[in-house]
Amino acid sequence: DSLLGGREVRQMARKRSGESRGILGDDEEGSRRRRFSRPRKSTTASTAAPRKTHASIQVPCTVRAFSEAIGLPASEVLKKMLGFGLQFIPSMATFIDRDTVELLAAEMGVQLNIKTAEDLEKELLSGFDAVDEGPELRSSRAPVVTFLGHVDHGKTSLLDRILGIDVAARERGGITQHMRAYTIDRNGRPITFVDTPGHEAFTQMRARGANVTDCAVLVVAADDGIMPQTEEAISHAKAAGVPIVVCLNKIDLPGLDVQRIYQQLTANELLPTEWGGEVEVVKTSALTGEGVDLLLDTLLTIAELHDLRANPDRFAAGVCLDASIHEGRGVVACLLVQKGTLRVGDAIVCGEASGHVKSMLETSKNRRVQEAIPSVPVFVTGLDIAPGAGDRFQVVDDIAKAREVAVKRNAIRRQMHLSNAPVHVTFENLLDRLGTQKTPTLNLILRADVRGSIEAILKELTKLDHPEVKIKVLQSTVGGITEADVQLADASDAVIVGFNVVPDENARVLADNRGVQVRRYDIIYQVTDDLKKALEGMLKPERRESDLGRAMVQRTYAISRVGVIAGCRVIAGVIARNARIRVIRESHIIGEYGIESLKREKDDSREVRDGLECGIKLNGFNDIKEGDILECYRVEEVARTLS
Ligand code: GDP
Repeated sequence: DSLLGGREVRQMARKRSGESRGILGDDEEGSRRRRFSRPRKSTTASTAAPRKTHASIQVPCTVRAFSEAIGLPASEVLKKMLGFGLQFIPSMATFIDRDTVELLAAEMGVQLNIKTAEDLEKELLSGFDAVDEGPELRSSRAPVVTFLGHVDHGKTSLLDRILGIDVAARERGGITQHMRAYTIDRNGRPITFVDTPGHEAFTQMRARGANVTDCAVLVVAADDGIMPQTEEAISHAKAAGVPIVVCLNKIDLPGLDVQRIYQQLTANELLPTEWGGEVEVVKTSALTGEGVDLLLDTLLTIAELHDLRANPDRFAAGVCLDASIHEGRGVVACLLVQKGTLRVGDAIVCGEASGHVKSMLETSKNRRVQEAIPSVPVFVTGLDIAPGAGDRFQVVDDIAKAREVAVKRNAIRRQMHLSNAPVHVTFENLLDRLGTQKTPTLNLILRADVRGSIEAILKELTKLDHPEVKIKVLQSTVGGITEADVQLADASDAVIVGFNVVPDENARVLADNRGVQVRRYDIIYQVTDDLKKALEGMLKPERRESDLGRAMVQRTYAISRVGVIAGCRVIAGVIARNARIRVIRESHIIGEYGIESLKREKDDSREVRDGLECGIKLNGFNDIKEGDILECYRVEEVARTLS
């Protein structure tokens, strides 16, 4: 139950926050600020009072740690939690998160000084990451550029051409697998290229707090034009807020319709300069080399416009782009220096890894170097374990400090993990979350079965003109919800709205892990209706769906006068006779039906578990197909008042 703790209690806390808003309602400001900013009167009579009126606590924490901090026996804290009407019995070891801690403190009239993982992280590195960065200390640095685009549009070939690698040789090599990063020299001015295996990787780095790129090159093959992945790449780049240069590649091919692509770009809000807009479009051929120099010059111009600078005279800090373990060399990490100068012998901490920089190799020439300045990627050996892509690195005083930070980070992460800590914006917590922003913006990622639905929803959304809250659609594309969408939502704190589509299995798991809300709809006005309510803070989870399990259709049997029976295998959870089934085909919702009969072998069954086979006949639906996924769920009415 200690794993369930955080989430369950948080749900209760959210519900409570709905009620508490009523109490604070007379004060507009107060209701928009974080809830429980003022302790409110206890609603539950408690026999014992905490010994302390002020306390400090690190969240998430266990019930035990909380009770010790406020000076009240854990049994009393548990009693209070039971008063919340939880679905489970909490224990001393149950992890509770910030919401719960605030709720408890408010109920008990204790003033808390709450520290989060970010606060702790700042404390860990205080003195190292906060060195004076006055503009006079900064020197200009190379732009860091990332190529994005649809597969096969020529990202790899272009980069190879720029780096002077034989294009034909790469053909035999196959796909881009690892992150590559290189610095090239163009007439004495450096440019750094980071080659990510896709926009997922690009966004995954951002989700980890690593803003690596200064400029995104959107590669579009002139014969293909804008494809689904190009559209996704556009939204990922836009969400990152980086300038976009379009590279119209394969310009050597005959019979091209460039105007058509300009139209497509314009439709995606990338108006080319030739058409009076602000987006540079450079026509290139990775095959002949045409336009490649112009592309480089364009990138340098953009860099100049943005006046990219960093201070080279400080403890180095930056990002790990990739790491692997090599026989003989140990951990080899590709680090991109963003500030300061990294030197051989420096003590560094990178995520949960630490060590001395034993050796450094320039990434493009595999040559040993002694130091690396901002915007320069290097291969570094000497770390004890392989850090993750997107982990930040920092030089510290000595190896003892590096170890200490790494170990503490590991402890914090484990605690965060246990308490399901990272929670993003949801329709229910919207007001509380946005209330703390300067210009409150709700980020949405829209996925639908057809273009028409997207257009209809977008149109409805424009009608939702809220005076204070802006709705920003980061991405609106056709198709099922993917891992990349969840990455984007995670990095941009967004809610995913699926219209007649569902997340695939990987996306579902990732969304769960990252605390990203995925809302699914099949009626357009319901999307805007819910949004309206959410913006008013009125959305109460009246109907809650609980997922019971999933089955895969393996075979179908048409039986006269009965209909089609689906022979299934349960692949997760259970299928229950009295629950409902959602039929999913290739990530699209086909429909939702009751179960007419559920059989194991020849016998009627109330429930069939994971791993077993069964026969399912749906109510009023016979068009079932092999490979369909049957999602079993139950709709519960959620009581408005609890405890
Ligand atoms: P990526 O998946 O975006 O990295 O694309 P690749 O660089 O692997 O290129 C995909 C295919 O397009 C390869 O067969 C390349 O040879 C070809 N290609 C790439 N750039 C050009 C170009 O400018 N002109 C032509 N004709 N073919 C190109």
